[in-house]
Amino acid sequence: MHEVSLIENVIALVEHERTKSAFARVSMIRLRLGALGHAEPDALRFCFAAVTAGTIAEGSGLEIEIVPGEGWCPDCGNTVALAQRFDACPVCQGNQVKMTAGDDLRVVEMEVA
Ligand SMILES: [Zn+2]
Repeated sequence: MHEVSLIENVIALVEHERTKSAFARVSMIRLRLGALGHAEPDALRFCFAAVTAGTIAEGSGLEIEIVPGEGWCPDCGNTVALAQRFDACPVCQGNQVKMTAGDDLRVVEMEVA
């Protein structure tokens, strides 16, 4: 499952953080997930416990914040909301909209002990 590798990346990032500031464990991880990305929040939640087992993030809570899709249209110069990847521009119907937000997964915060 694709979501497993995403969670593994998150754990790697958390481990890296620990090399900078020592902490014993992580109690909560907050992710920001793009609505147009390829990961399903439910699938992330589903595999989180299994993937974090035996790691520093074992038993940690998981919060997922969804970032809505957004794009920029070079035809009319507007920044527009994107409900779907490759949607036409809602202002001018142009088909060149470049996605500017809503495609990534980022760790925005974590609580450590
Ligand atoms: Zn446009």
